Amino acid sequence: MATTHTTRMLIIGSGPAGLSAAIYGARAGMEPIVVQGLQPGGQLTITTDVENYPGFRDVIQGPWLMQEMQAQAEHVGTRMLWDTITEVGLEGPPFRAIGDSGDVYEGDVLVIATGAQARWLGVPGEAELGGKGVSACATCDGFFYRGKKVVVIGGGNTAVEEALYLTNHSPDVTLIHRRDSLRAEKILQDRLMSNPRITVLWNKAVERFTGAPGGALEAVELVDTVTGETSSLATDGAFVAIGHAPATDLFKGKLELDESGYIVVQPGTPKTAIPGVFACGDVMDQTYRQAVTAAGTGCMAALDAERFLAEHAFAAAQKVAAE
Ligand code: FAD
Ligand code: NAP
Repeated sequence: MATTHTTRMLIIGSGPAGLSAAIYGARAGMEPIVVQGLQPGGQLTITTDVENYPGFRDVIQGPWLMQEMQAQAEHVGTRMLWDTITEVGLEGPPFRAIGDSGDVYEGDVLVIATGAQARWLGVPGEAELGGKGVSACATCDGFFYRGKKVVVIGGGNTAVEEALYLTNHSPDVTLIHRRDSLRAEKILQDRLMSNPRITVLWNKAVERFTGAPGGALEAVELVDTVTGETSSLATDGAFVAIGHAPATDLFKGKLELDESGYIVVQPGTPKTAIPGVFACGDVMDQTYRQAVTAAGTGCMAALDAERFLAEHAFAAAQKVAAE
């Protein structure tokens, strides 16, 4: 039977943004509910080594970090619920969300932390070699390719920035693009072209990623998009940089989204245009997209949520006193 769950603070998403909001929210007495979604723990649960989350001298594992974050959130009083939200009503407070299970969730404030997912090519070998040479995040994994040969696939700002970033570690970076011109801004293109560590392969599409069975990536198999000619390029690492998709389908027509589909917030805050509805993490940030920035904006969302509730309670008390 469907149940209605009520809370002062409803959080959709259980990545670093949602769990950080929960930790702060629980400690402020808001008794948060986190609806976890299909990927409990978020994107870091599909990676291995994490070396840039502050506080750990040694390499830690993404899934372990998220387990610890969840344990901390629960320890201070968060309720974690396993459901996926399929519909939201933002005419609140209270704000309403309906889960795949049929359960209804109501919160005096709503924190949206549904994240974003890297777009993948969907070619053979890509999923199998994920974490074994194939990645979608140079900032996260570039360090593992010190002195090695890497390729980046894509022709937008992200691909060019990733290629430039990778030259900090690798002397041999190849950008593979399916057309003969880049979509990236001119200034980035200029930097790319003048970098002696980078080669650009034009009009090439990746057909498959290959490696020994059970082993790491060894090569990318290419096809020329003009001539149809095929070729193979040996590489140690491949970074797919063809864009990200924020998880905002639920909010179309209900909240302002930018041209790439990210939730628009007031600059420097997690506040959406609806008072009491906050967005944090990758779902509102297409620039930084890091666990630590997601956690930071999750913290901001909880602090602003607490202020919103305090102001709301104060206004209600004044109204009662005046009656
Ligand atoms: P996410 O982690 O994307 O979490 C989103 C959450 O929302 C998930 O729990 C999902 O289940 C939930 N959700 C979505 N839709 C719904 C719904 N309808 N109902 C309920 N729940 C929903 N960053 C680093 O700082 N260092 C790294 O080393 C690093 N490595 C990475 C490696 C990989 C392979 C990837 C993909 C990313 C990596 N990142 C790294 C980036 C980092 O993982 C993200 O920036 C971070 O996870 C964003 O956190 P988030 O909480 O905003 O969203
Ligand atoms: P993007 O601009 O959409 O570019 C995606 C690139 O990937 C395009 O070059 C596209 O090729 C290519 N691509 C898409 N699907 C492909 C496929 N299946 N196979 C091969 N190639 C494929 O994405 P983005 O670079 O992530 O940028 C997204 C947004 O963030 C943009 O608005 C960008 O300006 C912004 N951004 C800004 C900065 C910055 O300001 N510093 C940094 C990063 C991102 P085609 O060109 O042929 O379509």
